[in-house]
Amino acid sequence: MSVKDELIARSNGVCELCSATEELSVYEVSPSDGSAAQSILACSTCIEQIEDPKKMDSRHWKCLNDSMWNQEPAVQVMAYRMLKRLGEQDLLSMLYLEPEVQVWADAEANDDEEQAVTVRDSNGTTLEAGDSVTIIKDLEVKGAGFTAKRGTVVKNIALNGIEGQIEGRVNGTRIVLLSKFLKKA
Ligand SMILES: [Zn+2]
Repeated sequence: MSVKDELIARSNGVCELCSATEELSVYEVSPSDGSAAQSILACSTCIEQIEDPKKMDSRHWKCLNDSMWNQEPAVQVMAYRMLKRLGEQDLLSMLYLEPEVQVWADAEANDDEEQAVTVRDSNGTTLEAGDSVTIIKDLEVKGAGFTAKRGTVVKNIALNGIEGQIEGRVNGTRIVLLSKFLKKA
């Protein structure tokens, strides 16, 4: 059963925030593991306004008067965040969240920024864009048809936002390197 199917079963096929029945999709309530428990079923109107605060229409969010009482922590978290954004202090003060749900609800701020990925070399040293690294093991570069030799220094690396990876130039070709085979130079 897909996450969406689980959410449809949970919500009886309506937007868990405003009860709309059309254009429903899965919205992951960040930070989310992608499971149904950490997602909600939401309509395109809700999602659009959640994602773009400038499009917030306070009339639409009267729906929170009802949905804030939902038993699902994921729905409570979204209701809390939207009420906060709307400055609905009275409703917020009525909305009791379990301590761990409160932590989740407050975790939103970090999510606005791009999630920073920490990339570490073979020694656990953090690598940053612009660093130079030494390759510690002969690495066959798939697709490029050469081997990046052990001992090669790669200057001015770039981060691609993926854990365990960096990008850099070897033999004049920009390639992705696994940071576990690198040592900061
Ligand atoms: Zn909705």
